[in-house]
Amino acid sequence: MQYNTAGIVLRQIKIPGDRRMLSIFTERFGKISVSVAGNKMNGKNKGSLAFKPFTLGYYDIYTGRDYYSLGKAETVKSWFGIGEDVDRYLEGSFILEFTEKLLEESVPSSHFFDLLKDYFDVLEKRTRAHSFLTTAFQIKAVSVMGVAPEVESCVICGKKYDDYMFVNEAGGCVCRNCISEVSKRDNPLIYRNDSAIIDRIRYLIRTPMKKLEKIYLEEESLGEINRLIREYSRYHLDINELKSERVKNV
Ligand SMILES: [Zn+2]
Repeated sequence: MQYNTAGIVLRQIKIPGDRRMLSIFTERFGKISVSVAGNKMNGKNKGSLAFKPFTLGYYDIYTGRDYYSLGKAETVKSWFGIGEDVDRYLEGSFILEFTEKLLEESVPSSHFFDLLKDYFDVLEKRTRAHSFLTTAFQIKAVSVMGVAPEVESCVICGKKYDDYMFVNEAGGCVCRNCISEVSKRDNPLIYRNDSAIIDRIRYLIRTPMKKLEKIYLEEESLGEINRLIREYSRYHLDINELKSERVKNV
């Protein structure tokens, strides 16, 4: 069967025989792997732009019993402004790698797809402090994947308070009454200076990506949320350090 679907290339690697293996996040099939002839991807070829990073394309996909193959590709939109600024490029590349790690093969998610498009739209327009958007994306992404941190009420007793601590292993905020119960377990990662971070995470979960273009957070608090979400993704989704993260932090 042949289908036409919107997609975003997450990654490409060279394989023998002058071919590339592409990982494409398609709207219809979720993340899929297809191999493409190298000459199809060079600049002279019509449609080659659809294989560049930060491009929204339409792809003809053929499905076999247990594989996908790629036909024609055309570009719908290029977020070329991302490639024109080093910071934007590093943040965008990190999110491509993060997304590729997070998504399972052949599981469509239109929410995640829209989130990624919105992220690139906003990243292209924002003029500074791009890492804020990346942190917001990560928090939203883990939520779309069904493991949102609980920041509305205590994960142990379910009650609402004004004051919590965030406990990575417990999956969210824990009230002062329940914290001793959590601390008894082996060495949980507890964020003690807490309420402000939890308020901000709640804000980032609730506010649509498109509304974050001109929002800025003080660096210290952003750093703390960033560490928190990194630990959280590691523990709950098994996302370890990414290659592009090392580059970004240099
Ligand atoms: Zn509690």
